[in-house]
Amino acid sequence: MERFDAIVIGAGHNGLSAAAALGARGKRVCVLERSSQVGGMAADGRLAHLVYNLSESEKRRLGLNLSAINTISLARDVAHVAIRGGAAEFADGRAHPNAAAYAQLHARLVRFAGVLAHLAEAPPPGFEGGLTSLEGLREIARLGKVGLGLKRLGKAEMREFLRVILSNAFDVILDEIPDGPLAGALAADAVRGAWAGPRSPGTVFSLMYRLGQGGEVFRPVGGMTAVAAAYAEAACRAGCDVRTDAPVARVMVENDRAAGVELADGTKIAASAVLSSAGPLQTMLLAGVGHFDVEAARRARTMRAKGSAAKLNLTLSARPAFNGLNEAQHAARLLVAPSAAEVERAFNPAKYGELPKAPVLEMVLDGARLSVIAGHVPTEPQGGWTKAARDRLASIVIDTIEPHAPGLAALVTNVEVLTPADIAEMTGAPGGHWHHAEMGLDQVLTLRPIAGNARYRLAVHGLYLCGASAHPGGDVTGLPGRNSAAQLLADGVL
Ligand SMILES: Cc1cc2nc3c(=O)[nH]c(=O)nc-3n(C[C@H](O)[C@H](O)[C@H](O)COP(=O)(O)OP(=O)(O)OC[C@H]3O[C@@H](n4cnc5c(N)ncnc54)[C@H](O)[C@@H]3O)c2cc1C
Repeated sequence: MERFDAIVIGAGHNGLSAAAALGARGKRVCVLERSSQVGGMAADGRLAHLVYNLSESEKRRLGLNLSAINTISLARDVAHVAIRGGAAEFADGRAHPNAAAYAQLHARLVRFAGVLAHLAEAPPPGFEGGLTSLEGLREIARLGKVGLGLKRLGKAEMREFLRVILSNAFDVILDEIPDGPLAGALAADAVRGAWAGPRSPGTVFSLMYRLGQGGEVFRPVGGMTAVAAAYAEAACRAGCDVRTDAPVARVMVENDRAAGVELADGTKIAASAVLSSAGPLQTMLLAGVGHFDVEAARRARTMRAKGSAAKLNLTLSARPAFNGLNEAQHAARLLVAPSAAEVERAFNPAKYGELPKAPVLEMVLDGARLSVIAGHVPTEPQGGWTKAARDRLASIVIDTIEPHAPGLAALVTNVEVLTPADIAEMTGAPGGHWHHAEMGLDQVLTLRPIAGNARYRLAVHGLYLCGASAHPGGDVTGLPGRNSAAQLLADGVL
């Protein structure tokens, strides 16, 4: 039997990030990916299409060439708003009356997000070894840094941080700026990929999560394929063996220790550690639920992971023209999020298993291809994802874009509709969820993905989670993978 120090299940960017971190420490690592390509959700632009949350150090480490782009929040009256980080103006260059208030709000949220970003860069806080152990003292020092970050905000800002952190994005945004496309853009960012509306509690936390790297939006040169390739190259440079078309059917367990994996074709590969990009329940099932406490299995089964983002890839016969945008502005991230109130209302049909009536959209135009993320699409609509339901979703999305780009419908030659159910099937992500597990306040930090299993390790010795369901969560960050590898090494498993 072949033998490695560690096996990583899944070559999504987090699996690759975990593998690279272990490889860099001299461990022999094999990454096994069930599909025929690396990158998972961030493989090639079919799903993820932009980078919002990658740290500067990670970009440098990967040698990624990313260009920051504007966001344009489209308005029905063509008074579109062009946004770049904390700066906002009308797309035609006129000053926006709420630009100053928006800049202040954005700067404050980014400052607050910076405090939380410290927590994302390492396993979630825990004092398993006791307060006075070396590990405990390290934790105290780390939490001290977060406390210091809070203190540096000053008394008034610290109070404000504590006031808003558990609050909903809708109130916090509309306390500062009137409703409209500018507020709508922030509200949409707070809930993209979430089973939540901006009025849902805890959505300020998810907005801050997205603003953790300053809130700029980047378009990778070479598309998402370049991002996935950079992660794969980093793993290969660290000596890892990355294999595609290698679905893992079982995690082998001996004496409550991970002993390797068995592939669907029956091939067995031995290892002392197994890191899984699948969700906690899927991972427990691979190992056999009999190895886990009933309560842990129940928590994994009831973990909230209702996918709510669908992806539509439109092939067009020619490049469409959006009303009121010049040539260069067509390369921006285009949003249909007319107001925070409409972002909230867009969530209502999904609660009843219905398709959205007026979906919130994020679009990227690449030549004659329009990449569209539609929010608040039910995981499984009433009646299921029949051909009629898929066609209906495609029509709703095209009808939503058409007023902004007249003639678009006539240009469409093909629509690829990827529903949350398709995304679950393609990637194995629980519920096809963007973050593999909802980023609600009950499923973040020490509660992510489930209470009792926040530090990546599961009850089987040497079995770890390394995908987006683990702390700090989804988006292309590489952090769950990197943190998981760090925890495994700190635990002395290898
Ligand atoms: C529609 C959509 C659009 C998105 N857009 C963006 C975006 O623009 N920007 C952004 O930052 N984030 C975006 N996201 C979120 C982001 O892509 C994910 O949070 C992130 O890529 C998750 O990475 P991961 O490595 O943890 O998991 P994944 O990318 O899901 O990878 C998991 C991998 O594990 C493999 N796997 C699972 N089970 C097995 C098994 N048994 N054997 C072998 N392999 C297995 C899967 O095939 C998959 O390749 C989007 C998500 C969705 C759904």
